[in-house]
Amino acid sequence: MCMVFVETHAHLNDPAFNADRNEVIGRAAGLGVSKMIEIACAPSEWAQGERLAAAFPEMVRCAFGVHPEYIKEFSPAVMPELENYLQKACAVAVGEIGLDYWWEAGRKAEQLALLESQLPLCAKFSKPVVFHARNGKTPELNAYADLLEALKSWEYRPAKRFRGVLHCFCGSWADAKIGLDMGLALGVNGTFTYKKNDGLRETIRKAGLDNIILETDCPYLPPQSSRGKRNDPSFIPEIAAAVAAHLGVGNEALADKTTANSFELFGEF
Ligand SMILES: [Zn+2]
Repeated sequence: MCMVFVETHAHLNDPAFNADRNEVIGRAAGLGVSKMIEIACAPSEWAQGERLAAAFPEMVRCAFGVHPEYIKEFSPAVMPELENYLQKACAVAVGEIGLDYWWEAGRKAEQLALLESQLPLCAKFSKPVVFHARNGKTPELNAYADLLEALKSWEYRPAKRFRGVLHCFCGSWADAKIGLDMGLALGVNGTFTYKKNDGLRETIRKAGLDNIILETDCPYLPPQSSRGKRNDPSFIPEIAAAVAAHLGVGNEALADKTTANSFELFGEF
């Protein structure tokens, strides 16, 4: 049987795909990447996300939320609209939400408030979360520490193994361990293949196949072989092969388990 992969984190509505969006999706599907989660993470992206899922009903589902970089688009007035999107048939998660101290280091309190205003949506709509965390340029700008601290009081407790995912995981093993203990999977993408990322590879090895899912975060962060180019979901098999080699498992086992993990987290589609 051929391998099926789930691309758990794509931004296919990015203008980088305006010229060939359908071809990109078709090419990925041809390589086995036949399930994709589109991250619609700003009010201005929600309708586009829903349209994309409607155009590819067998293949595309959506996360809806407000990313910290889009804090300027948020006001309490958009919450009813977000709740409306989370009730659509295509909605599988809240996200991506979290803390970004790289681009928005000066707005910690506002970002935390934005995160905390969206967390109750998980219990309300029985949805897992896609978390974004990016540390700042100095050690005290530790987004992982602040995010994991904030989640200590997060009450959503579904009767399943995962409550969410730390997408594009780039924290320490200590961060990963805390996340795993609170029911968060780790999202692995092209950064796993970057030459300097021995620490990340070691962290993913310790976390193990049971706790990881695959993603691209396209159009950003292509694997090492294509750095500087546009990323897209067709890179998932290449990322998967690198992870499989590092973990010492076969490509098929890697595909099967990460797909099972993804469906366990987001529901099967
Ligand atoms: Zn993203």
